[in-house]
Amino acid sequence: MKICPRCGTKKLWQLSTGQIRCSQCGLTRKISKNLWKKTRISPYWKGRLIEYFCLGVPVYRLRFQVPYSQPTTLRWFRMLREVIYQNAIKELEPLSLRDRNG
Ligand SMILES: [Zn+2]
Repeated sequence: MKICPRCGTKKLWQLSTGQIRCSQCGLTRKISKNLWKKTRISPYWKGRLIEYFCLGVPVYRLRFQVPYSQPTTLRWFRMLREVIYQNAIKELEPLSLRDRNG
């Protein structure tokens, strides 16, 4: 169960955009847990877009390769970066704890 980081309420609304909004203080967060399911991009194109993302192809170059609009592709790329960032932070946590002790 998710809890609002600002006021601690458990009453959270799920918006159609995949965002979560607190019913008490109105705090809106972008990332929900299953972003993989939230997007309307088909599973095949999700995979293909990750392929392009790994190759470092910019979004504006995918105009004719991908049947989605540039903002949609851009949102997906941003989401991938967010996920990578979150995982990197998770891996860094034990290191920072080790530094504090040693
Ligand atoms: Zn709140």
